[in-house]
Amino acid sequence: MKNFIQFIFRIFHREASAENSIFESIDHETGIKLLQYFMLCVLLILCFILPGADVKKRAKESAQQRVQQELRESSPGGNADASADSGLKTGIGAGNGNTEAGNGAGNGTSGAGAKNGDENENSGSGEGESSGAGSMAGQKGTIVIDAGHGGDDPGMIGPSGINEKVLNLIYAEKLKELLEAQGYRIVMTRETEDGLYDEDQSNKKAQDMERRVKIIEENSPLLTVSIHQNSYPDASVSGPQVFYFQHSVEAEKLAASIQNAMNTELEIGRPRTHKGNTSYYILKRSSSVTVIVECGFLTNPQEEEKLQEEEYQNQVAQAICDGVLAYLEKASQV
Ligand SMILES: [Zn+2]
Repeated sequence: MKNFIQFIFRIFHREASAENSIFESIDHETGIKLLQYFMLCVLLILCFILPGADVKKRAKESAQQRVQQELRESSPGGNADASADSGLKTGIGAGNGNTEAGNGAGNGTSGAGAKNGDENENSGSGEGESSGAGSMAGQKGTIVIDAGHGGDDPGMIGPSGINEKVLNLIYAEKLKELLEAQGYRIVMTRETEDGLYDEDQSNKKAQDMERRVKIIEENSPLLTVSIHQNSYPDASVSGPQVFYFQHSVEAEKLAASIQNAMNTELEIGRPRTHKGNTSYYILKRSSSVTVIVECGFLTNPQEEEKLQEEEYQNQVAQAICDGVLAYLEKASQV
């Protein structure tokens, strides 16, 4: 810098003070030319290099931002699980009530909820039994089962303190066993208490969701079932509900089939209807026929209790399995 200032000074004052500079021998005209070249270089840098670097930087950030933004958008508030669910649906947030949309009938859904909080795991049963499945294991094709939440993300927390993530895994494992027995190869997005993120990751939720979708994409399954538990500000709201990506005809059929099986087999007093959604991350980002099954409302104390009973858990898993099988059967006839 010092040399440069001396150089400029010399150009205009032609004084040669012979000090340390390499510009010593440069005469006035050459100096002017050099200065012009220098200015030209600066101009070029400003015009091309800096904007280019900015673009690169933006490209780098954009992937992560896109995911975050989608996560944010994702849940309309509503649905049930939604709100609180930090899970899959992210975005949800804020609680607003809107709920599952659509839900009409009086049951409201929505998202309210705050979840997070304490943890406590009562889980119910256990860990994944592996398959055993039998001779025809996996021959009929692959199904991905996604147990929502996990690790630092408890999902909804019920009045008794039960964490949604714990229940989701229990239901997912039960469903896995049933479908394996039918000859399907099952891929679980998680089989432990942990989420799918790295501990040192700054945005664990985004990474967790990206990895779930990656597992689905890598396995090209016949279909994907994501298991969650719902929540709603009004504690009287209850009942299972299945969500599907609104623009997928097949996912709508799968959702209808599972919803129907659950409503009938579980003898639901006020049956809910399956519902389309365009914002939940896992529905939107996976190319598989994917549905989210909200087994029931953790915000309803009676249902929360029931959801923890093993007998009811078995019935729910069986109903989901039956809905899946009925869909696959119809699909194969087409
Ligand atoms: Zn959830």
